[in-house]
Parts: sequence; structure tokens; C-alpha cells
Amino acid sequence: MPIYQYDCAGCQKQVEVFFRTVAKASEATGTKCPECGSKKLTRVVSRIARGRSTSEAIDSIDLQQELGRLEGGDEKAFSKWARRMGEQYDGELGTDFSDLASRADAGLDPSERADPNFALSSRLSRAKERLSTED
Ligand SMILES: [Zn+2]
Repeated sequence: MPIYQYDCAGCQKQVEVFFRTVAKASEATGTKCPECGSKKLTRVVSRIARGRSTSEAIDSIDLQQELGRLEGGDEKAFSKWARRMGEQYDGELGTDFSDLASRADAGLDPSERADPNFALSSRLSRAKERLSTED
């Protein structure tokens, strides 16, 4: 059961709000402070919420689109994207986006790896599984 922490501007407390499902939590609008009923809540990124948000962020990665850019010869765009992903995820998830970016920058074809598409997506899904079992 997802629990999100919020800072409440109404009562200045840090409160926890429970949601029945992750989907409910991400849809949640008009969430009220359980202490004072105020709707002025700001989500606090706690350890739990961080894991969630990382996993949500991974969901939103459009790998096909980015690899499509690479195939289309737009290596600059790809390396920029990969570098950004590396800064965000390499440490946390053990991915090697930074390495891919360096290869693209050096004019090497990152796709010369056996199957970069498979490697990247399988690594992302493994990372997701790991995150979802940390609850
Ligand atoms: Zn409150």
C-alpha cells in the first residue's frame, strides 16, 4: 500500500496519506490533510516515495523513441539524452547510460553492442523489479 508524505501548509505538519493503489495515488487530486483537512499539501520525497518516483520515471522512459533517434543518425540528441539518464540513473540503477553517451560522443556506434535495445530495456525492467520489491 503506497504511503506518501506531505508537508501541510494548513497545519504545518508533515502528514502521511495512504492510498489503496499506486494508480490511485498518482491520480490523486484534492488530497486532504488528515490532520486539518487542508488541501495545501506538498509531496515530500521520502525514501519510499523516492523509490516510487524512480520506478514511475522509468515507466515514462520512451526507449523506443530515443533509440529511434539514434537509428535516424541523430547521435547528438541521443548522447545528450543518454548523459542525462546516466546522471539520473547510473548510480542508482547500475545502468550504463553515461557509457553509451560517451560512445556516441566519440563517434562510436553505441548500437554495435549485440543488442543495445534488449540490454537497455532488460536492465530497466530488472531495476524496476528491484524497486518494486523494496516495499
Ligand atoms: Zn494539515
